[in-house]
Amino acid sequence: MRIYATTTPGLEDVSANEIELLGGKVEEVRFGKGRVFLTGDLELVAKLNYLARTLERVMILLRVEKFEKLDDIYRIVKEIDFSFIKPNQSFAIRPLRVGNHDFTSLDVGRVAGQAVIDSYMESGGVRLKVNLDEPDVIIRVDVINDEVYVGLDTTGDIALHRRGYRVYDHPAPLNPAIASALVMLSGWKCDEILLDPMCGSGTILIESAMMGRNIPPQKLRDDFQFVKIWGKEILEDVKKYVTESDVDLNLVGIERFRKHLKGAKINSEVAGVADTIDYVQGDATKLCLKTADVVVTNPPYGLRIARKGMIEELYEGFLRSAKGIVDRIVVITAEYRILKEKAEALGYVIEEERLVKYGGLDTKVFVLR
Ligand code: SAM
Repeated sequence: MRIYATTTPGLEDVSANEIELLGGKVEEVRFGKGRVFLTGDLELVAKLNYLARTLERVMILLRVEKFEKLDDIYRIVKEIDFSFIKPNQSFAIRPLRVGNHDFTSLDVGRVAGQAVIDSYMESGGVRLKVNLDEPDVIIRVDVINDEVYVGLDTTGDIALHRRGYRVYDHPAPLNPAIASALVMLSGWKCDEILLDPMCGSGTILIESAMMGRNIPPQKLRDDFQFVKIWGKEILEDVKKYVTESDVDLNLVGIERFRKHLKGAKINSEVAGVADTIDYVQGDATKLCLKTADVVVTNPPYGLRIARKGMIEELYEGFLRSAKGIVDRIVVITAEYRILKEKAEALGYVIEEERLVKYGGLDTKVFVLR
């Protein structure tokens, strides 16, 4: 079965690695496009949804083809065999359009929806019901430049970065799927000290703790779209293979504001990892630790010009303070020029620098030593 997963553009290789570790055979990685193509079976689909930490969605690829006009999209979708949809099930098309076309994504949704209905009826079935709010089956039709991808969404409208533990809503939280990818990039091992000196609501530390204890990222969720299609048994089977541990981890979070720190503790409790993260109110520019193996952090970006000076001071202060205490640093920021300039001036070695698209923003991830 051909499958594709969506992930954060710029972190596809990290996701591809994770997919392989979970038993998928990666066939193609589209760098910068946030897509990884692979092969596997239904069990893998369930595993990827329940266990993958860096993915956004998992789709079964029904068709990928070049097209020229809107009518071609109708034809391509109509040729697909939709007999996996039960006659009493509803469906919805979720269209996406990237590039220049003389039609909108609404048009894509309309023609693809009609094509599904016609295809099903012509192969002897009923007229399928459309339900845009709570469909049983979601078909994703992604029109990307001159190609159309048709996929059966096995995840659903709630993407996998939504973990369910975020009770306290920080004003600038990091996407947990990206947080996990950063921890993976850092090469952190369970017996090492990991510090996030600007931890906000604790996402990076919570993800690290869940990783270190083998807690499934979707432990709090069972409403995947694939359960609506194939039933709960396939998910229960995957759950049987998971062995969580209660290993004691060395995770430290520093945050300037008490309000966020309190929120981080609440989120950690909901995630079931509060006992293994130490939260300290403090200043990232005056680190209170004697040593840390790894820093993984998501500092403020200060998107408003007026705050640029503050960001420069903060980045320099943090990097200066970490020098000699920390072995390696993974940092994500939209203010990458400032970060790079300060890191180089302080004699850090930039081991890696990659562009990551995050919520429409160009950010960079650095691995420093
Ligand atoms: N990764 C976090 C999350 O998912 O919730 C969000 C981090 S947010 C982008 C940056 C955080 O750095 C904010 O919570 C801010 O209060 C904190 N911060 C800013 N300056 C700081 C400093 N000097 N020391 C410690 N924390 C600081």
